[in-house]
Amino acid sequence: MYVYQNGVIKKKEDAALSIDDRGYTFGEGIYEVVRVYGGRVFTLADHWQRLKRSADEMEILLPDYFTRKHCMETISQLVEKNNQPESWVYLQVTRGVQFRSHGFLDNMTPMITMYLIPAGSWEKERQGVKVSLAEDIRWHRCDVKSTMLMANTLMKTRAAREGYFEVIFEREGFITEGSASNVFFVKEGELITPPLSNYILPGITRSYIMQLAGRLSLKCIERPVKVAELPTMDEIFVTATGIEAIPVSAVGQLDYRSPGPVYTQLMDEFNQDIEKLKWL
Ligand code: PMP
Repeated sequence: MYVYQNGVIKKKEDAALSIDDRGYTFGEGIYEVVRVYGGRVFTLADHWQRLKRSADEMEILLPDYFTRKHCMETISQLVEKNNQPESWVYLQVTRGVQFRSHGFLDNMTPMITMYLIPAGSWEKERQGVKVSLAEDIRWHRCDVKSTMLMANTLMKTRAAREGYFEVIFEREGFITEGSASNVFFVKEGELITPPLSNYILPGITRSYIMQLAGRLSLKCIERPVKVAELPTMDEIFVTATGIEAIPVSAVGQLDYRSPGPVYTQLMDEFNQDIEKLKWL
């Protein structure tokens, strides 16, 4: 398996990291997961923009050579060298190496790694998955795509142990997002999703779904959603790069129609876009 590390593509066995990397000691890293369909990179411009924003917000300096073009070329090379046209690209940037001390130095050289993960298929899940509800115990900068994900991984694992596909977070009576996804609701034919804030990640799939809704003349409203409103929703689905959109058949004890008609309509459109992308 070939991976990328700070400008160089190498065998995975030859890639190494320092135990003093702040990504290891303090979890100081940012990341992106980008989808490759049939060898074609999907929505890279959006992921690139979000990565740059995460870097700026966390004061991680992306080196000059690490441009969007370089990133695109690297992904293409990884896809070719690994012969893996259906992939998730995992891209991570940590702050870099420094003897352990809370305060970080100026002008640190980040550690950039990229590798491919074979894309999963979610055939069974597209019929509907059960999700749980839990208190959002994360920090106040969920808008940054940080690798510091202990609250997410802990809650996701606990939910999985109980047989749930995902856990949806609530903060002070309002739904924020899933542990690794954004959430959409359908009520009386209209799409609803919580508005962007420091409590949710601006999902690339979230914005793609909103664009598709526009194209299909489906009304999509960004507004706070109360937990108390859950019983009034007709459909619920979760979105992320890795899963595209997956319909929710139950939130705890509350059942929903899945896959619902609005979900199905959006996924048909999404799949058509992917087919077009492959034949570009
Ligand atoms: N929220 C969280 C907390 C996530 O981890 C993810 C997926 N990484 C998303 C939302 C969805 O983001 P995207 O559609 O960009 O993959």
